[in-house]
Amino acid sequence: MTTSRQDYYDLLGVNRGASDEDIKKAFRKLAMEYHPDRNKREGAAEKFKEINEAYQVLSDSQKRSVYDRYGHAGVSGNGGARGFEGFENFSGFGDIFDAFFGGTTGTRPNAPRRGADLKYALTIDLVDAALGIEKEVKLERTEVCGGCNGSRSAPGSSPNICSNCGGTGQVRRAHESVFGQFVQVVPCGVCRGEGQTITDPCDTCRGIGRERRSRTLEVAIPAGIEDGVQIRLRGEGEAGHNGGTPGDLYVLIRVRRHETFRREGNDILYTLPVNMAQAALGTKITVPTLTDEDAEIVIPAGTQTGAVIQLRNMGIPYMRSSRRGDQRVTVDVQTPKKLSEEQRMLFEELAKSFGDDPAGISEQDKGFFNKLKDAISGE
Ligand SMILES: [Zn+2]
Ligand SMILES: [Zn+2]
Repeated sequence: MTTSRQDYYDLLGVNRGASDEDIKKAFRKLAMEYHPDRNKREGAAEKFKEINEAYQVLSDSQKRSVYDRYGHAGVSGNGGARGFEGFENFSGFGDIFDAFFGGTTGTRPNAPRRGADLKYALTIDLVDAALGIEKEVKLERTEVCGGCNGSRSAPGSSPNICSNCGGTGQVRRAHESVFGQFVQVVPCGVCRGEGQTITDPCDTCRGIGRERRSRTLEVAIPAGIEDGVQIRLRGEGEAGHNGGTPGDLYVLIRVRRHETFRREGNDILYTLPVNMAQAALGTKITVPTLTDEDAEIVIPAGTQTGAVIQLRNMGIPYMRSSRRGDQRVTVDVQTPKKLSEEQRMLFEELAKSFGDDPAGISEQDKGFFNKLKDAISGE
C-alpha cells in the first residue's frame, strides 16, 4: 500500500492545516459510521481500517514523524520496525474501538482450549515397514487429572464462586479516551478470568486439573509404509484445557537401513554374489525374501554380472491395495581375489583355451568346466 500523507487527510475529509481537535472530531464521526459492528455494507471494515490508520498517523506528531521515516510498514506493524509496539496495540482492529462500542475482545481464560499435538519418532526395520507390524510407543503426556477428573478441587469439595466478578470471570473498567469515558471489559484479576477460586485443591494435581503420565500405546503400522510418513492418532496428544478436546499424536516413521535389502518404490532389491563358474555354467541358488521363506532362483548358464532376475509379487505390498511389488535379484559375478595352486593351474589352462577372445571359448570342454566348478566352489 502506498498511501501518502495527503491521502490520510483526504480519508478523514480534513484540510492539511486542521487542528488536532478537528482531526479527532472527523475521525470519531467516520469511525462511528464505518465500524463493522454497525455498518454491514461491503467494504465497511476495510474503510474502517483505513480511517483508523489515517487517524493514527495524523493525530500524533510522533507518529507522523514515524510515518515519514518508515512509511506504512512503520505504522501498521507489518514491516520491520518492531519498536512501535504501542501503535500496534492501538491500531489493533479490536481493543479500544470494540471496547468503546461495547464489544468484548480476547479469549476468556476459562474458555475450552484444544490440547497440543505431540510428535514421536519411531524407527522400524525395513521388513516390518514392508509387511506391517504393531509397535509399542512409550511417551509422557499431560492428561486430565485422574484424582479430580479435571475439576481441580479435592474430591468432595467444590470451588467458590469468585466474589469479585460474581463468577463471570470479567470485570468492567472505566477508561478515559479520545471519545470521552468508556467502559472496558477485562478479565477478573482475582480469579484470573475463571469465575471461581479453588479453596481445597486436589492432592494429585495440586489444583492444576492435569497431570503428567507415562503411557504405552499400540500403533498399527500398515504394510508398505515409507520412511518419513506420519501416522496420526487422533486424541492421543496432550489433554485439552477447561474441557477442551485433546490434541493428536503424530508418529513419524523412520525406516532403518537393511543389511541386504534395499527399497525402490514397492520393489525390493537384493544383490546376489556368484562366482565365475556359477555364472558361466548356471546353477540354482536360494535367496532370502521379505518373508521367512527363501526363494530358489535359477541362474542360467552364461549369466552376466548385473543381470536381474525378477521374483514377481515378492516385493512390498501397496498400501490400501492387494497388489505387491517384485523382488529384483541382481547377479554380481565375483572375480576371485586369491587362487589356490589348483585353481591357478585351471585358470591358466582356461586362459589358453579362451585365447584372445574376451567373450570366452569357441570349443567347450565339459569335463574341464566341471573340474573348474568343483575347484572354485571347494567341493
Ligand atoms: Zn486433580
Ligand atoms: Zn473473578
